[in-house]
Amino acid sequence: MNFLEERIVKDGVVKEGNVLKVDSFLNHQMDIKLLDQIGAEFRRRFAGKPINKILTIEASGIGIACVAARHFDVPVVFAKKSQSINLDGDMYVAEVESFTHKCKNHVIVAQKFLTPEDHVLIIDDFLANGCALQGLIQIVQLSGATVEGIGIAIEKGFQSGGRIIRNLGFQLESLAIVDGMDASAGKIWFRGQDPEDSGEVKRTEDEICRSSTLD
Ligand code: 5GP
Repeated sequence: MNFLEERIVKDGVVKEGNVLKVDSFLNHQMDIKLLDQIGAEFRRRFAGKPINKILTIEASGIGIACVAARHFDVPVVFAKKSQSINLDGDMYVAEVESFTHKCKNHVIVAQKFLTPEDHVLIIDDFLANGCALQGLIQIVQLSGATVEGIGIAIEKGFQSGGRIIRNLGFQLESLAIVDGMDASAGKIWFRGQDPEDSGEVKRTEDEICRSSTLD
């Protein structure tokens, strides 16, 4: 297991409804040393790519993207999920469906922050069905910029997003690919790992609707 997989086994919580909670270290309370390791690993995996901007989506992608950006020495743009009075000028807008919130959002980026000259690394905390990512890819394409790659902390490999995005030809690097979770047994296993050797994680019996507080 790599450093992130080990941390998921140690501190992740498997919930009913195929939800993995990592809010004690990744997307609510954030372990900045871990985020720094994630950033360094993205830098290694995308070495040689002419990346000049990182794009993520609010809220939980922002922390990872900002720490990773220190390793690339580039600015971060985050897509907003709702129109705010602070957004001015022309916008790129894409529609995405939220896995955890079970609703549709618009993702919005001001046109002045993405141009055809940009070479973009997209970063997010989770990849499930790929809706959030497809919205971000759409926004980069609308701007005429280039997607140089996609860095994900945790991919739920048993959902379709990873396969769809790789089939589109993008370099998608997920640091931990969860191939299965068993909430009743409190088990989780990663790509390349035999389910028999799966890690014991904490579990809760909460219903999926309670997870609307997750990001
Ligand atoms: P997708 O659009 O790929 O279906 O879902 C990606 C988004 O849903 C991520 O940005 C993340 O916020 C959220 N998400 C999906 N699955 C999980 C999960 O198991 N746990 C948590 N905490 N968030 C998830």
